[in-house]
Amino acid sequence: MIPGNLDDDEGDESRADASGEIRLPATLESSGPVPPKAEIVIVGGGVIGLAIAYYLARRGLTDVVVLERGYLAEGASGRNGGGIRQQWSTEINIRLMQESVDLCRRFAVDLGVNVWFRQGGYLFLARSQKEVARLQKNIDLQNRCGVHTKMLEPKAAQEIVPELDLRGIVGAAYNPTDGILFPWPFLWGYARQAAAHGVRIFTQTPVSGLVPQQGGGYDVVTPRGAVRARRVINATGAWSPQLAKLIGVDVPTYPIRHEICSSEPLKPFLRPMVSELSSGLYCSQSMRGEIVGGVTLPGHGSTYAMGSTLEFLATYARRLVRLMPILGDIKILRQWAGPYDQSPDGNPILGAAPAHPDFFLACGFVGHGFMMAPIVGKLYAEYLTGDKPHEIFSRYTLGRFSDPALAGQHEKEDFNIG
Ligand SMILES: Cc1cc2nc3c(=O)[nH]c(=O)nc-3n(C[C@H](O)[C@H](O)[C@H](O)COP(=O)(O)OP(=O)(O)OC[C@H]3O[C@@H](n4cnc5c(N)ncnc54)[C@H](O)[C@@H]3O)c2cc1C
Repeated sequence: MIPGNLDDDEGDESRADASGEIRLPATLESSGPVPPKAEIVIVGGGVIGLAIAYYLARRGLTDVVVLERGYLAEGASGRNGGGIRQQWSTEINIRLMQESVDLCRRFAVDLGVNVWFRQGGYLFLARSQKEVARLQKNIDLQNRCGVHTKMLEPKAAQEIVPELDLRGIVGAAYNPTDGILFPWPFLWGYARQAAAHGVRIFTQTPVSGLVPQQGGGYDVVTPRGAVRARRVINATGAWSPQLAKLIGVDVPTYPIRHEICSSEPLKPFLRPMVSELSSGLYCSQSMRGEIVGGVTLPGHGSTYAMGSTLEFLATYARRLVRLMPILGDIKILRQWAGPYDQSPDGNPILGAAPAHPDFFLACGFVGHGFMMAPIVGKLYAEYLTGDKPHEIFSRYTLGRFSDPALAGQHEKEDFNIG
């Protein structure tokens, strides 16, 4: 079975197998025609599309179809590090992440799936006074928002991670309630619960056309037929510009390859996610003991290529061993890459596209779409079911990039690290 694919659950309804065990009804549909119409079609079966689908269904809007061209978790959502943090540089992102962390904490109970969420904190390390000043500025803002991040002397950072080599480290920021989780069950949780509430999720179903209808909405064209949708949500991550282009909308995001790797499992020793500002190195220890981490490489430009490079492995190994010499002998078992959907100001793009009131965007999440999915999914569902829109829908519009009157909304998020 392909990781992240639940197709083997397919069947028409709950049933007991030979052992008497009750099986769940179908979660995914990978064959057969798509339905002729739906109130909302969500294109993209990543964490953003599925979170929106789940929260819509929870609010009673179940006439929803998700169309995924491959398998669930095929895009960035199945390739990320599972880091969840509240250490950001803008108030809006800090506040969003406070709520997302709450939702992550309740995820297992609310959705009935263990996502291995562990709040071991995030420890950001500075190698210059300039970096310390940058951390301090963020910490002041985070503290004002009620996130209890602290500035630490190097020795205090070493009390949290004794394996750190402190040479060159001049300070650290630590928030104990940040954490990590295991991305795949998170997606499965949303998919299963959305489907259990009536959402239909189609895998192996690429959208190749959007035909505007008189009076609003679109025919959403796939090889398995077309769905006439009142509203369409573009949740195709790094491929969002391509989908938007089908109706002539320009989305200014672009794909950046981000590489990551995972080691053999080690005895648990590392509680927080550790991240070094100067190199963009980050690593955490999963609940299974693997060290999962990445590092920033000099720009290779925009690309959809998702191959792995030796340059990444060599850079990561050098940076990691400089920081934690004890890791010099570990074996890397797996290396992969995924696309960041990079937006010009580091923030997502949300709400209806200008002049296209039935075409909604949920893209541009750069390296933090996973952690934002719970709160963005919830707020999006509230908005689409008639609640007063949260300020993210006036602030994170597509129009902010072209309309001078909205230029003030360009509050750049400059802490897209680790
Ligand atoms: C290596 C790496 C590490 C990361 N680490 C973190 C982290 O620690 N924490 C964090 O919060 N975020 C992290 N991220 C970012 C995070 O993974 C993304 O922001 C998030 O997964 C985006 O979700 P999405 O649903 O928007 O996009 P995706 O998961 O990419 O989903 C989009 C889906 O749309 C589908 N699609 C595309 N075109 C079509 C079409 N025409 N028809 C139908 N379907 C289509 C694709 O197949 C894909 O499945 C990381 C990303 C990478 C690559």
